[in-house]
Amino acid sequence: MSAAGKLHVAIVGSGPAGFYAADRLLKQSPDAAVDMFDLLPTPHGLVRHGVAPDHQKIKSVSKIYDKIAENPDFRFFGFVEFGKDLLLDDLKSRYHQIIFATGAQTDKRIAIPGEDLPGSHTATEFVAWYNGHPYKSDLDFDMSCERAVIIGIGNVAVDVARILCLSPEELAKTDMADYAVEKLARSNIREVFMVGRRGPAQAAFTNPELKELGNLEQADVLTHPEEMELDDLTIESLGENPNAAIQKKIEILKGFSGAAAGKKKKLHIKFLLSPVSIDEGKNGRVSTVTFVKNKLMKREDGSMGAVAFGEMLKIEAGIVFRSIGYRGVALRDVPFDEKAGVIPNAAGRVLDKPGGRAVKGLYTAGWIKRGATGVIGTNKTDSAETVDSMLEDFAAGAHLNPDKPDEFITKLLERRKPEHVSYREWKKIDEEEKKTGESRGRPRVKYTRIEDILKSLGKKS
Ligand code: NAP
Repeated sequence: MSAAGKLHVAIVGSGPAGFYAADRLLKQSPDAAVDMFDLLPTPHGLVRHGVAPDHQKIKSVSKIYDKIAENPDFRFFGFVEFGKDLLLDDLKSRYHQIIFATGAQTDKRIAIPGEDLPGSHTATEFVAWYNGHPYKSDLDFDMSCERAVIIGIGNVAVDVARILCLSPEELAKTDMADYAVEKLARSNIREVFMVGRRGPAQAAFTNPELKELGNLEQADVLTHPEEMELDDLTIESLGENPNAAIQKKIEILKGFSGAAAGKKKKLHIKFLLSPVSIDEGKNGRVSTVTFVKNKLMKREDGSMGAVAFGEMLKIEAGIVFRSIGYRGVALRDVPFDEKAGVIPNAAGRVLDKPGGRAVKGLYTAGWIKRGATGVIGTNKTDSAETVDSMLEDFAAGAHLNPDKPDEFITKLLERRKPEHVSYREWKKIDEEEKKTGESRGRPRVKYTRIEDILKSLGKKS
């Protein structure tokens, strides 16, 4: 324990990384008090607005966060924007340590012509829209066309492909935003192409997510046998380092080839194609995506990269989803590595620049710390690393020296953001959503507008 006494910590961001950090802090340091802030009135970050609405089992992890929030030394302040309602200096005046766990809120750019044409969307926006994110609920996706192309073959691409292929009955069982259920049920999309730049052995999707595609009620999943043939370099690399997960992945993919059962929709998984341009049709919207065919080559680090060998392929598309990974967004007054899209850090300690010196009292966890990789559980070990650094620094006296009293933050927010939302108030919203859902045979019916949430809590919007 430091001479500073009780450890006061602020966590900016209430997704999995923020909650796992809070939990570890409160367990490892019984004398700690944690205040968590979020831009949205609702907590749980990607668990609420990223995890697919038909993956309720994964979403049930929020019960663990509810348990953490029951600790009397934990407080939640929702609908408080860091950098606007609350500045870094405000936090420094009250807390010994501050964690930034704000995730990765935007998408990577492919940097090809036509990327921003009408009808070309990022997967991040589509995912946030169907999950009822209040800042994305007004987006519009024209699904009057028959074919969608998804660029990228990670698990987000798989989510998008699956959601586009669900039947109205399957959609109705989820906690997807009402407007999205209606729109997707009326969608004309009959064919979805999910396109990867490398081969099946290098695909970023994971086996359970891939296998699940085989259970879609109204869509056949199709792979093309000639694309399943592994090239010599891949065979060589697999031989050197046999990997059961990759073998299994290829087995599942091969199982899809020639498996058309005459279902209403077709989901094609294609490999070894890099997008070159997204092309405009006569109506000013996307009409095709031009790909160049690739072959694989061994990179210096031993991994397999894709190189174009010249031949082009055009795939018609009325709508395009770019699903090539998420990227972090810079926070006011907090160092940021523009190239990597993360907060520069060493074991969670924020650095003044990549490879630079630690900034006293500032820490980071989750996707904004390591980039958008891993599953929800990965954040547990990630946050543990950050908290271990924090406790070590606190014990060594290397922390901020807050001079403001206990009630400083609450008084400040009463002035700057009187409509902020507590965890108790969030639980009221949570219960209401579940109750409405129950009456309609759904896990919950989400509030998708800030003003509705505030109104339901009797607050001004
Ligand atoms: P991801 O796993 O990094 O996949 C990105 C995909 O985009 C890869 O296929 C990648 O190909 C491709 N790509 C990148 N740059 C490209 C370019 N310039 N042109 C064409 N393709 C490009 O990212 P993600 O799908 O957004 O997922 C983020 C993280 O969330 C992952 O760790 C994922 O597993 C996790 N997640 C998990 C679940 C789940 O567990 N159910 C659901 C959703 C997301 P290369 O491989 O060739 O780079």
